[in-house]
Amino acid sequence: MRNEDALLETELYIDGERRTAGNGRTYDLFNPARPDELVGKAAKATIEDVNAAVKSAHTAFPAWSRLSYAERADYLNKVADYLVADQDDVEYRSILFTREHGKIRQETLLEMTRLGDRFRLSASYADRLATDEKISGPPLDTIITRQPRGVAALIVPWNWPLSILGAKLPQALMSGNTVVVKPAENSAMAPALTIQKIAEVLPRGVVNLVTGSSSEIGDPLTTHPLVRYVNFTGSVDVGKHVMKMAADNLTPVTLELGGNDAAIILEDAELSPEAFTKMYLGAFMSSGQICMAIKRMYVHRSIYDDVVDGFTAICEQQVIGDGLLPETTMGPVNNAKQLKVVTDIIDQARAAGSDIKECGQVPDEDLYAKGYFQRPALIYNPDQSLDIVREEQFGPALPIMPFDTEEEAIALANDSNFGLCSSVWTQDPDRAVRLARRIEAGCTFLNNHGPASQDARAPFGGFKDSGISRNLGYEGIIQFQEYQSISSAPGYLF
Ligand code: NAP
Ligand code: MG
Repeated sequence: MRNEDALLETELYIDGERRTAGNGRTYDLFNPARPDELVGKAAKATIEDVNAAVKSAHTAFPAWSRLSYAERADYLNKVADYLVADQDDVEYRSILFTREHGKIRQETLLEMTRLGDRFRLSASYADRLATDEKISGPPLDTIITRQPRGVAALIVPWNWPLSILGAKLPQALMSGNTVVVKPAENSAMAPALTIQKIAEVLPRGVVNLVTGSSSEIGDPLTTHPLVRYVNFTGSVDVGKHVMKMAADNLTPVTLELGGNDAAIILEDAELSPEAFTKMYLGAFMSSGQICMAIKRMYVHRSIYDDVVDGFTAICEQQVIGDGLLPETTMGPVNNAKQLKVVTDIIDQARAAGSDIKECGQVPDEDLYAKGYFQRPALIYNPDQSLDIVREEQFGPALPIMPFDTEEEAIALANDSNFGLCSSVWTQDPDRAVRLARRIEAGCTFLNNHGPASQDARAPFGGFKDSGISRNLGYEGIIQFQEYQSISSAPGYLF
């Protein structure tokens, strides 16, 4: 058992061992529900630590990349087993995750489960990955195969750190790459402990971990000449910066960036309590801090009042507080900066005269006042020019707006710089697919939205400012590889 009273200090993991940061530096992490409560300290890596981590991954690459897919799949399945082998440890990391992040326990456990599931899923592609395409001559015989790229830098944001890790790490490993992972500064400790566990199952140097401040170690990682691929999830601005940095070495990038997802609720949508619960979770799971959350809800005018009433009623039932408490259904926003983004957007809508309702129950007003809390705020039919409609709120606030025709709904959904996900709500599957095909978004969910409706076997990512390339699915593995064509005169190979 662990000593729960000892202050946790998480370390780096480089070349098969835990290490403190080069000069012993750490930084503090506080509980967003109780900002004066110190949760622990994370290692604050230096540039030398980043260089050591990349070197370690580079050294481990030849042996790891020469393993067969079946051998790597065995390792991935062992990782999945090991992550859940000690239930006390799962409990410990889940509580730590809630304390450093804010999100409720069910969601931290869900993320941990997803991470293991995604290791198993990536392993299940072994046979398909091992099968080369063959083209017979004339004019030539050709084997179309793929090789892993080398060292991949995996950069993870704070909002869904373990699920998002699960969309990059197992895929990078299965493809034969070795990695350096950089979790976000604001959610580093539970990811660090988890990444260390994963690394312990694998050969030395295959998985390396650096935590710390991106202003110091971000550019040195993405511009390192031995880094052959950058897989980044985060904001649009930082994504563009990472791409510019990577350009100097022509390092390919995958960028999973922000979203401003539209949900289109048609007049024949099911309006049951179950449907409203799906809409609620689609918008407000993890306090709305999900890239693929509903961020704009467009409702057919004939049912607008019914949807507003049903959805508001669900929001009113939520209990906002400390994510460790069993009655809590919505925790705080993760950090003060993000809270200010959300409250500024709500304040702008209020100043413009919008009709706003802040919903839900707050059992502990004192806690609410001190922590980074925001009740789910519904903004009814705001002006379309306001930030709550145009920008990504990334927090518990949602605009709900009426439309009159399908054409109008599609035009509104596509009138955005973003194009991550979207949803269509109707009881008519043909109509749903017909409209989905016209939405400029990487994923369209039908009669649901968000993580609950995401199929991890399918590629995930966005159009326009929402990013470049795709994680997850088979495609999410082969992006970590380079194609190679091996050709001969006809009859020589086949
Ligand atoms: P962020 O500020 O862009 O940070 C994302 C990650 O990049 C963090 O680990 C951050 O480290 C790191 N970083 C910052 N500057 C860097 C640099 N110069 N070089 C390398 N890494 C650098 O985003 P966030 O605020 O954590 O996350 C919220 C955003 O992510 C939202 O816009 C959300 O929509 C988006 N997101 C997208 C997806 C998707 O799949 N499309 C999923 C989740 C979230 P530090 O923490 O140390 O600064
Ligand atoms: Mg918005």
